[in-house]
Order: sequence, then structure tokens, then C-alpha cells
Amino acid sequence: MSSLIIMGLTISANSKTGKSINVSRKSCRPTALCRKRCYGEKITLEDIARMEAAGIDVRCLRPNAGPITWDKSQETYERNFNVLQAAYKEGWLDELAAEVSAYWIRHQPEEVLRGNGLGDLWPPLCDFYARLAMHGVPVFLFSRKAEMISRLRETCNLLEVEYDRRPWVIGSVDPSTEKEDLSKLQTETLRMNGQVTLAATWYDPTDRLLWHEPLENWQVHEAGVRVIFGYHTNFHHTRVPQALQKNECPATAGLKTTCRECRKCFGRHA
Ligand code: SF4
Repeated sequence: MSSLIIMGLTISANSKTGKSINVSRKSCRPTALCRKRCYGEKITLEDIARMEAAGIDVRCLRPNAGPITWDKSQETYERNFNVLQAAYKEGWLDELAAEVSAYWIRHQPEEVLRGNGLGDLWPPLCDFYARLAMHGVPVFLFSRKAEMISRLRETCNLLEVEYDRRPWVIGSVDPSTEKEDLSKLQTETLRMNGQVTLAATWYDPTDRLLWHEPLENWQVHEAGVRVIFGYHTNFHHTRVPQALQKNECPATAGLKTTCRECRKCFGRHA
């Protein structure tokens, strides 16, 4: 599977998620855990050793050097950010969305586009996804920003996107997410999808970090967490407590599967 470039915007492709839109991490509003363990940031054992020697708190840090962290990938995500920003400011976002949609409908109408493989919503990306949905491209995406999910819903309303064509939005949380942010994500995913829809990153209990409110205390299932991304281990697969395994992302847990087969995250596009 190969990536493609339309009007300067790269649509990435990988064997797990299929096609996805990734943008620079400057679009993100990271939590405390994100700052330590972003899967998009390259970190080597040497980096960790250097930080430890400099007296920096390295608990929770893990080596991370997957393709998403490579310089070439990061340049692509930076360019995507700039293309979307320019299209929004210069008034060609409609054209960009129409071109991407035309390609999609022609070549892969059955596929679901993964939004925010890296990065998060900001106004140009909200408006871009709403336009893709208007043209009939099925999108599912993750976001930590409740106010941007709200904007996306309002833009879909303005563009008169039918309810079952709207992007399926998953609120992204982790053990360091503030209670207030959790609550707003519950509200906005409910308004967007018709049900509270969250995904959580699990953490390694041996890290002994004093997060504001350990995720266990949120009563994960009652909070509306549908999918859990476990913590990385030395065995090339992630791990979560036994009680939550049915919610774990099977791809990161080591199963040879793809989002298209799994569809746990897809919601109305399933
Ligand atoms: S849970 Fe399934 S659909 Fe969601 S990211 Fe993992 S493999 Fe993809």
C-alpha cells in the first residue's frame, strides 16, 4: 500500500490503519502523559540515558523509533500542516477537499479514512474533514480537543452533512487527562456520534507515577471507553489488565490484523 499526494497534501498508508491523514504535532494539546510518551517522537536508549544523567525524570519513557518518528515522515506531517493552513487562509480548502474526495470515491469508496494518525484537530482540519464527509468520504478520527469536536459537528451541520455520513470521532484520553477534559470529551462525542466514544491509553503500573486520577478510578467501561491502547513491553506487543483485554486494540496487542478487519473504532462506518 502506498501513500499519495493531492495538491501537496500527503495521505499516508500503512498495513495496519490503511490510508490516514497525519499532521504536525504542533496541532496537538498534549497531556502530561503525551509529553512523555508520544508515539510520534523518536527516543532512543541513549536519549534516555542522557536525560537521566542530566537529572531529568525519565520514568515512563520508552525507546521509540517506528516509521512515524522518522525525519522524512515528520517532514511530511509538517508539510501537511502547512498545506491545510494555507488552504484555509487562502480560500482553497473547498477545492482541496473536493480533489481528495474525488480520488477517494473513484478508487476506494469502501475504505474508511483514518484522521489524525498523528496530530489533532484545529480549525483548518475540522473544516477539511467536514467537507470530506459532505462529499461522502467515510472518516474516523481521534481527538483530545472537545471544542474542536464541537466545531466539526457545527461545520457538518452548516454543510448539511447527513447524520450517518458525519466523521466518527473518538475522544482520546489517558490517565493524566484532567477530569474536566474527560467530561467535555464525553459530552462532545455523545453529541457527535450519538454515544459517548472514548479511547484510552493504558500505562505501565510499575511506572509508579502520581497521575491526577488513575484511570482505574474512572471506571473505564462506565466512562465510555471503547478501545484501549496498552502500554508497550519488550515483547513487541502492548499490555492491559486482564479485565480490559476485550477492549484492547488487537493490532498493538500483537495480532496480525488491520483496522479494516477489526473495526472496533469505526462506529457508524462499520
Ligand atoms: S482497535 Fe481495531 S480499528 Fe481501532 S486502531 Fe486498533 S486495529 Fe484499528
